[in-house]
Amino acid sequence: MNFRTLSAQPLVEQMRNNLIERVNLLKSKGLTPRMGIVLVGDNPASLTYIKNKRKACELVGAQFELHQWNDQIGPEEFLANLEALKNNPDIHGIIIQLPVPEQLKHLDLTNLVSPEKDIDGFHGMNTQLLFKGCRELENLLPCTPKGIVRLLQHYNIAVEGKEVLVIGRSLIVGKPLSMLLSNYNATVTIAHSKTKDLIRYTKNADIVISAVGKVNLLTAKHFSPERKTTVIDVGINTLNGKLVGDVNFAEVSPLVANISPVPGGVGPMTVISLIENLVIACEKKIKG
Ligand code: NAP
Repeated sequence: MNFRTLSAQPLVEQMRNNLIERVNLLKSKGLTPRMGIVLVGDNPASLTYIKNKRKACELVGAQFELHQWNDQIGPEEFLANLEALKNNPDIHGIIIQLPVPEQLKHLDLTNLVSPEKDIDGFHGMNTQLLFKGCRELENLLPCTPKGIVRLLQHYNIAVEGKEVLVIGRSLIVGKPLSMLLSNYNATVTIAHSKTKDLIRYTKNADIVISAVGKVNLLTAKHFSPERKTTVIDVGINTLNGKLVGDVNFAEVSPLVANISPVPGGVGPMTVISLIENLVIACEKKIKG
């Protein structure tokens, strides 16, 4: 089967141009969107993610500041420092970069950032929008689900009435994504580590989205060409030093209609959605 690769690049460029215009408009009104990232310690993977976020900010003309705190910081000092950031009117979006050290893990991290500065979209007030049926992407919704919906829309892949299988049920991807797709009138099934006979579900879905983090979780045996499936690969794994997803692209691509690549698919959509959330947070400040 001739498959289509759902590359994020054209859409990211389109969204970036739109965001540049919006940032310029905000600047003309005296506001420059500014992202503050809290990093505790110096986890190398976190530093790489942060570098990407900084670059993405700069590309649209937004500002960025890193608050890197000692990995021995106690909960009280952490909370006091965070409070100062929350009260800083020049910072419009705050991210607490995960993971944090053991001594901070008991904190309710997703709800520590004020909802209006919660550009990750993890705060209970923002995730609740999804439970209320929100499908309006100009809200502070979680970035990966938002990016996936935009990618599907860009490639004219309808979700209404479709059978969608979401593999993974994390708070940052699987659960909010399932809810958002349900708000778009998809019929959503959620699979997880205890799901028996995953093949039965993958073979019967119109759209399969894998957010697990396991190399070769999905291979040729999971798909039938007649189903003309769309596959969205959220997974980020390394194999022999290379970045790969959960899906064996070489095996699966000839058997499906559409497939997102890793790298170059969901990853860039997540980053641009984060920048979009920063701009939205700043715009909401003007609207009040
Ligand atoms: P997570 O919190 O570890 O959740 C993984 C989920 O996969 C869990 O719900 C788990 O089930 C399920 N699972 C594990 N083994 C399975 C199996 N054999 N069959 C079916 N389900 C299985 O991970 P996450 O934070 O959601 O991230 C998932 C992947 O996406 C990771 O590779 C991560 O790096 C990547 N990611 C990518 C982006 C991006 O922008 N591209 C953004 C976020 C995350 P249980 O609930 O039963 O444990």
